[in-house]
Amino acid sequence: MGSTGYFTHPVCWKHEMGAGHPECPERLSAIEDRLLISGVDMALQRREASPASLADIELAHGRMHVAALRGLGDMLREDMAAGGPTHTSLDPDTMINIHTWDAALVSAGAAIDATDAVLAGELENAFCAVRPPGHHACRDKAMGFCFFNNVAIAAKYALERHGLQRVAIVDFDVHHGNGTEDIVAGDERILMVSFFQHPFYPEGGSTSKAANLVNLPVPAYTRGMDIRELVDMMWLPRLEAHRPELIFISAGFDAHREDDMAQMGLVEQDYAWITQRIKDVALRHAQGRIVSCLEGGYNLSALGRSVEAHLRVLADV
Ligand SMILES: [Zn+2]
Repeated sequence: MGSTGYFTHPVCWKHEMGAGHPECPERLSAIEDRLLISGVDMALQRREASPASLADIELAHGRMHVAALRGLGDMLREDMAAGGPTHTSLDPDTMINIHTWDAALVSAGAAIDATDAVLAGELENAFCAVRPPGHHACRDKAMGFCFFNNVAIAAKYALERHGLQRVAIVDFDVHHGNGTEDIVAGDERILMVSFFQHPFYPEGGSTSKAANLVNLPVPAYTRGMDIRELVDMMWLPRLEAHRPELIFISAGFDAHREDDMAQMGLVEQDYAWITQRIKDVALRHAQGRIVSCLEGGYNLSALGRSVEAHLRVLADV
């Protein structure tokens, strides 16, 4: 039996985007509470994540994007000291506070640390309980609650720094991972498979714009049984053919039936089932190696239960 890491950091609680914003620090607390109550935390190796280096962030992002985010954080800190506002908006639903820069570095750093630990054989797989999330962050643009693309950075890191030949990214968030697509499209070393509610935020994704992408747009009110069929028919043959040496998961839980952010009908058992399918592929081709990173999931109770289901499969408990 392998071992499962749980990577997080206190600064991930300090980034927040204003009162009432759904992508809130309480999400991480809801996950931790559920893992404690269920006893699943006993099966996890808890690790404090370290910040990513700028050189590693720039594996997936343009230097100007990185510098702009850092500069905005510095300006906000100065403005606040002079009695100015506590947040700066980058788009109508994406804001920074004075902790966002550090939290974004640590979120990407968690994915990198997890990648190092899994490739070193210290852990079989890992979950990164981090925020801000990443999968809407494009090479040169923050959007949709995301600043740096944690999973895309770690995927590039595994290829460039560890010399892997092939990795896969599985994205089961209810929203299309447009940022990940922007960064990995056309990179044949990376296979990205996803499903997402469509039409929906963000625009696009209805076609797979490169051969290494398997985009499955599904209508609102799609239920778990239909998703399972799509996973079996459309994801698994491609994942098997790609033979990834490491699998990354953009683990968003906002396709849950109880999550009002979207209108899909998945439940905890569906997340457990999908996770098992991914794990089966990882066991066949990747020595079981999986690095899973939190993306969306906004109903706090459903989020906690879904992460528990996901981790029960990863940790075999
Ligand atoms: Zn989402």
